[in-house]
Amino acid sequence: MESIVQSESELTDSAFHSSHILSVDRVAAIRQEMEYLNTIGKRFVAAIDRFQVHRALLAALQELYSFSACSILLRGDPFELSIIPCYPLSEAFLQAVVQRIASAARVIDFPHINVEELAVTSYLDAPDELSTVLVQDTVGGSEIGSCLNIPLTVENRIVGMLSLFDEHVGTFDTELLKLTTMIADYAAVALENVRLRERETALWRQAELGRQRLELIISSMAEGLLITDARGAITLLNYSAQHLLTQAQIDIQQDIPLRSLIDKALAGETVMNQEFTAGEIGESVPLTLSISAAPLHEANQLQLYPIGVVAVLNDITSNKQIEKLKDEFVSVVSHELRTPLTPIKGFTQHLIRRIDRRLRKAHQEQNNIASARDLPESYDLRSLHIVQSQTEHLERLVNDLLDLSRVQWGNLNLQYTSFFLADMLAECVYSAQVSAEQHTIYLDIQVQDTKILADQTRIGQVIGNILDNAVKYSPNGGQVTVQLGDLDGDYLVNITDQGIGINPVYLDHIFERFYRLRNSASRQYSGIGLGLYVTRAIIERHGGRIWVTNNQGVGCTFSFTLPRTPRTS
Ligand code: ADP
Repeated sequence: MESIVQSESELTDSAFHSSHILSVDRVAAIRQEMEYLNTIGKRFVAAIDRFQVHRALLAALQELYSFSACSILLRGDPFELSIIPCYPLSEAFLQAVVQRIASAARVIDFPHINVEELAVTSYLDAPDELSTVLVQDTVGGSEIGSCLNIPLTVENRIVGMLSLFDEHVGTFDTELLKLTTMIADYAAVALENVRLRERETALWRQAELGRQRLELIISSMAEGLLITDARGAITLLNYSAQHLLTQAQIDIQQDIPLRSLIDKALAGETVMNQEFTAGEIGESVPLTLSISAAPLHEANQLQLYPIGVVAVLNDITSNKQIEKLKDEFVSVVSHELRTPLTPIKGFTQHLIRRIDRRLRKAHQEQNNIASARDLPESYDLRSLHIVQSQTEHLERLVNDLLDLSRVQWGNLNLQYTSFFLADMLAECVYSAQVSAEQHTIYLDIQVQDTKILADQTRIGQVIGNILDNAVKYSPNGGQVTVQLGDLDGDYLVNITDQGIGINPVYLDHIFERFYRLRNSASRQYSGIGLGLYVTRAIIERHGGRIWVTNNQGVGCTFSFTLPRTPRTS
């Protein structure tokens, strides 16, 4: 890169002229020059910040010239200007320096520089020994006698400009120009390195700040956080996790359920809300933790083995307490509701029979059905039939609630008897058909021997529930098919309707307690969402399975299996 020399002196380029024969003096001069470059090169290499580069530069230049100040203007947004004085300088001289730099920068292809802005942002980097006596109006001259500007280049890129100033005229000899340019090149590379290092440090600081913030978040989280490496060894356990595990008396190394949870996640499975209970289930609710664990994958490498496991721990004891209170409430209320139901049912029955008898008598006496219908007793009888059917409905609800409590507390006791499943299905189909005028219920028995050892009442309840739903959720009538077949040696019952069907999204949920579909179609049907919950519990207590499939928009099929002899779970 060509240098621009602005000097009030006449400069002649006699330095480093080419010569074919090297004189002894010339060899000595070259050697001296190389030693000099070697020494200053080492100083530049050792510089770890821009101030040390400035010191190295000043020292190198001062060995060549005696001058007032040098400056370094670095490109960037904004420009960075450092002025390095060799001795205390007057304010006027410094102003002149800034002016010169601005106009010289324009010559070497710098974008336009605003002198005022440059003056404000410039940095006076005085060597320590000058800092106390710097910038005094009385010191030094106020005018620039000589000036030398050299572009600073790195890999043919102009990164800035080095300028040298002196009060006297003719200071900067062209004989030393090449050497000065070399020093400028050293300084340019050293400054570029410093800049890269500064950027790297800033990035590192930013990353470190992010890391510290994350650490703070993790340690202050209310949820417990546990992270393992690829072999399942714990690498992080935040404060909440330590606290929760200690309270629950769970030893991370020894606890088998926790280890198997971690192993599952390491095998690629995400395990949700697994409950861990501390101590015995007694009067008060024991401390209960809910732990979810997921495999930890390197970003964008989902197909590979996980690099660890991340698990979140939550204390759900208070939820359990609320659940327990709710269950106790339901249990107490349903028992209390059942008590008055028995006499209501009994007396209604009694009244129906009495009125019925009276009406028959009146009918026999008058021998006229039409006039008997007009009797006030006839109206009473109809009202009592309504009371009876509503009482039965209420009884079913109360029984469902009682069953819910039994399932909750593990008290769903089964009374096993031997009976024929085909007979039981036929009975249920018959009683469902009586109250379903719009529907045709078919029974299809595909197995020869249908003998089973099970709780007859409970199985009747299951089939009744599913059939009731099949009728209830197909308001336009249609066919309902009950099919008995075989699946891997167990009985398989399929009950198919042509009703409103179930959105596939909810298929997994409808067996949950109090779960009712929240679509506009099912809102018009009465129910509390317990039937299928109890149904599943009964089937599972027998060792069977229950599931539901959607039939391409027209109705659905509920299927359950039952072992021929009990296989209690
Ligand atoms: P419910 O008292 O609400 O009928 P269930 O536990 O018996 O309670 O059923 C749960 C929910 O499953 C129902 O609210 C309904 O949305 C849905 N469901 C059950 N059976 C059927 C069916 N045959 N067709 C469509 N939806 C059904």
